[in-house]
Amino acid sequence: MRAVLVINAGSSSVKYQLLDPETGASHAKGLIERIGLSTGALHHTVDGVRHDRELPVPDHEAAMHLLTGAFAEHGPDLAQVDLVAVGHRVVHGGADFADPVEVTPAVLATIKRLVPLAPLHNPGNLDGITAAQEAFPDVPQVAVFDTAFHQTMPEAAATYAVPKVWRAQHRVRRYGFHGTSHAYVSRRVAELLGRPVEELRTVVLHLGNGASATAVEGGRSVDTSMGLTPLEGLVMGTRGGDLDPGLAGHLARVANMSMEDYDRALSKESGLLGLTGSADMREVMARRDEGDPDAELAFEVVVHRLLRYVGGFTAVLGGLDALVFTAGIGENVAPLRAAVVDRLTFLGAELDPAANDATVGGAEGRITTADSRVQVWVVPTDEELEIARQAAAVVADQQNTS
Ligand code: ADP
Repeated sequence: MRAVLVINAGSSSVKYQLLDPETGASHAKGLIERIGLSTGALHHTVDGVRHDRELPVPDHEAAMHLLTGAFAEHGPDLAQVDLVAVGHRVVHGGADFADPVEVTPAVLATIKRLVPLAPLHNPGNLDGITAAQEAFPDVPQVAVFDTAFHQTMPEAAATYAVPKVWRAQHRVRRYGFHGTSHAYVSRRVAELLGRPVEELRTVVLHLGNGASATAVEGGRSVDTSMGLTPLEGLVMGTRGGDLDPGLAGHLARVANMSMEDYDRALSKESGLLGLTGSADMREVMARRDEGDPDAELAFEVVVHRLLRYVGGFTAVLGGLDALVFTAGIGENVAPLRAAVVDRLTFLGAELDPAANDATVGGAEGRITTADSRVQVWVVPTDEELEIARQAAAVVADQQNTS
């Protein structure tokens, strides 16, 4: 059995999945959570059965021991697996990585150098890599960056109009995130349409707890809604997305607000949470159904912001062939998709309401009519499979060149 172990290590959790990069078959997956806290937990799922264990997990090294222990106890037996790579999700690759790479000491040093750009994410990613290197010393480790897909953005889209010294000394520019998902989904929709990706103009809406829109032309990202940080762009669970850059100074003056409080409020207390008191779209939709005015306003703000991006990106692309919804909200909230697509009739999008209502719960499907000039699809994202494929491809490339 050939497989890639995909690891998504955060500061206090490690998500993992063992999958076949060719068929996409998932052999096992799991989550180790509350690393470094007084109580931790491991959940290992194999053959549809979940095995749970509660115990303190002091650090990522201990998490990796638990992971290998869970495979030994519940299977599949890693000794019987042809493990071609360990694929790591790394959030920020800066301008240094436009492609996945095998981890070397120089790569680790660069990811470390990028920590100031992603202080909440890259340190956990690094801990995961070093722990996996110790646990699997003979297996190539491959880093797959959330930012890499967007490195094809033209300068005009990546540049903030700010002083040169900020750009030159502090790497201030737009990087974009969710690249693994946008890459997977934009390629998959081309397959579904039966058209070469090279001739398609696509907008992908990745709407999960974090949310971003990407304009994809000929398979390459040409613009995306997230920027230097994952705070820019769409309305998200706890992040408000676009706002007036003058807000920071205003709140410092009128409320004596510190930078720390401002940062925290914008990343943890805004978005759906700020508008409704709940960051969970399921709850917001339930309250909207009951007539709650805050939930209704939040829904309208989300839709309005989506329309601004779809409209803007359509102009950037010079037209639109396909629009794709993905991630938890995109895959499940049919009324939201309907509200967006119904306002795109001027572009030639014609919703198929029955297909839209039926495409939920992780189903793949077209939600516009067969004649619709813009084809709108729901494509469930699979970041783990995309990481597994990219990691396997890096290893295969290296074997071919050596
Ligand atoms: P993450 O970015 O954490 O991976 P997900 O892609 O899982 O997030 O998306 C989480 C969001 O999707 C939450 O707002 C959640 O409420 C929403 N969501 C998931 N399933 C449903 C559903 N069946 N109906 C409405 N919203 C849903």
